[in-house]
Amino acid sequence: NMSHELRTPMNAILGFTEMILDGIYGEVPPDVGGPIQDVRTWGQQLLRLINDVLDLSKIEAGRMELSLTVYSVPEVVETARTSLRSLAAEKGLEFTADVDPDMPLAYGDGKRITQCLTNLVGNALKFTKQGRVAIHARREGDEVIYSVADTGIGIPANHLDQIFGEFRQVDASISREFGGTGLGLSITKTFVELHGGRIWVESEPGRGSTFSFAVPLRVAGATEVV
Ligand code: ADP
Repeated sequence: NMSHELRTPMNAILGFTEMILDGIYGEVPPDVGGPIQDVRTWGQQLLRLINDVLDLSKIEAGRMELSLTVYSVPEVVETARTSLRSLAAEKGLEFTADVDPDMPLAYGDGKRITQCLTNLVGNALKFTKQGRVAIHARREGDEVIYSVADTGIGIPANHLDQIFGEFRQVDASISREFGGTGLGLSITKTFVELHGGRIWVESEPGRGSTFSFAVPLRVAGATEVV
């Protein structure tokens, strides 16, 4: 219920903002358009934060459950790509995605897997000033491996272990600039582990990072989260 109380007003604010920008209430004067776009951007960020905090509280209460169905890996990749395509274009980054051509249908929580991949791609775009972000999905035996490679700022070796923890950020000033809570990776890790999978990162400061996660192609049953 709390979830409904928090999301409904935020969705209403975003909906009306969108309609104003679409000109439904008349032409938007040029000097008003900018601030209204800012309202939309900050509103979207607040909605992401609300969703993350709600997920986290569910996880902490031990009530997070996967909803298992057949899902398509190329669709997961395509959804993550389309939802962040405009951000990549705004930043002038090369943005590619490819999936093994013979990828079979997968069984798991496609929505949560999409959320995980979107989190990683969002981070990659956030922490990359120039170059490229590349999404890959490949099959290795009984697993699907999703990876997101960037040519961004990278992560110092002594932080690699910590960033998957709650509210952990290497540099809070960057996250203040681009928005972020330090919750994305810990939530992503939980969903991956609920699938019986694992997540890891390889990174070199100044050169970039590659985040990867492996999940079973077909999840046997949801694992309890601790
Ligand atoms: P945030 O909301 O800060 O992005 P996350 O949990 O998603 O929170 O990430 C935690 C921290 O890990 C980030 O604040 C950043 O310091 C680091 N990080 C995550 N992804 C990347 C990346 N692709 N490149 C560099 N640093 C990253």
